[in-house]
Formats: sequence, C-alpha cells, structure tokens
Amino acid sequence: MSVCLMLHGLGSVPAHVPEQEKPYWISEATFAEVVSLARDAEVQLTIDDGNSTDVEIAMPALLTAGIKAMFFIPSDRIGTPHYVSEHDIQTLHDAGMEIGSHGCAHVRWTEVPDEAIAADVRRSTERLAEIIGEPVRTVAVPYGACDRRVFGVLHALGITRVYTSFSGRYMPNGWIVRRNCIKSGMTPTDIRTLVTKKDTLACKALAFLRTWRHAGRAALWTG
Ligand SMILES: [Zn+2]
Repeated sequence: MSVCLMLHGLGSVPAHVPEQEKPYWISEATFAEVVSLARDAEVQLTIDDGNSTDVEIAMPALLTAGIKAMFFIPSDRIGTPHYVSEHDIQTLHDAGMEIGSHGCAHVRWTEVPDEAIAADVRRSTERLAEIIGEPVRTVAVPYGACDRRVFGVLHALGITRVYTSFSGRYMPNGWIVRRNCIKSGMTPTDIRTLVTKKDTLACKALAFLRTWRHAGRAALWTG
C-alpha cells in the first residue's frame, strides 16, 4: 500500500484566494518537508488547482530533489491571472511531471447532471492533451465531491485513475486513489506521522467502509 498526498497552493497566500481555500495553502518550509519525505519514502505527490506556484515553487524543489509529482489542473483557469499558462504546463510536462484533469471550472460533480460531468471531463482532458501532445486519462475530483454516480460517469468515459479526497492508503494498481490532504498548520511531525504510520486492519476496514458509503461498488476498484 502506498501513500498519496494532496497539495494545493504554496508559499504565502495571495490576496485573491477565497477565505475557505486559505487553509489549503502551505508554506514553502512545509512543502520542503513534504518533498524530503517523498524522496525518502514511497509517497506520491499530487498538486491540485493549477496555481502559478506549481511552476514557481513546486517544480524547482521537485527537480532539485529528483522526484516527480502529478499536477491536476482546472482547464478553464489556464492562462488567467495567478494560474499556470499553457507554456507552464508544457514546462511541467517536459520536466517529467504528470498532468491530469481537475475538470474545467472546478465545479462539484455531485451537484450537476451526468452529461455536465461528462462534458466537463471531456473538455478538460482534450484541452490538456492538446497542450502536452499526449492523451490525459487521469482526474482529481474537485472538492473531492464524488459518489457512485460520479464514479460511474468517469468509468464510462475511460478515465484510468481517479484521485479522490478519501484519506488512507491506496493500492498502486487500484482505480480509485485515496489521498491525504496537507493543510496549513500541520507540523513536520503531523506530516511524518501521516506518511509513516502503518494502517492497522481496523483502519483499512474503516477506510474501505467509508469509500463504500460514497462510492458503492466502485469501492472495490481501489485495488
Ligand atoms: Zn481543487
């Protein structure tokens, strides 16, 4: 079982960031801690939302450490102020980073009809694929808002992996990936504990039941 961490903006929080998103921004010092842990342990890093700090802060630190991360980008934000440009996405991709979809406009898929989810995913994966010159087949669920209906739509679209906000460990070949959110205020010890603590059987059973409650049969696709 592997650990996947979910990150967002890095460094000091810019003024445009809405109040409710601020707790998800972490300092450069905390990010350095995460990177050094990821270098030493089997940890997958994922960075959501397409903030310009993806290229300004994350990429240089990742390259120095010699590790790769996945970047999930809401495609309607590309080239708008404070977010990555097409060129930034090409730079991330050329540096060996993986690019995935985070929808177009960062909407809650649980609150829109099937056709709207499908259109959101299709349009975003096509836009990103055009930029990097390769198919894009992975998604991270905006706000982690997913249920069995959302999973059904994503599966029918041929998405190969879904990165959720269900916490816990994940099977490297599973279809659903559980991710653990790193938030501001977490200490180096908190983060180290998150990465190194071994799941007991009870923890694994609880994680499965939690996923089952939201995902139904799709919970079996966690690996
Ligand atoms: Zn997001």
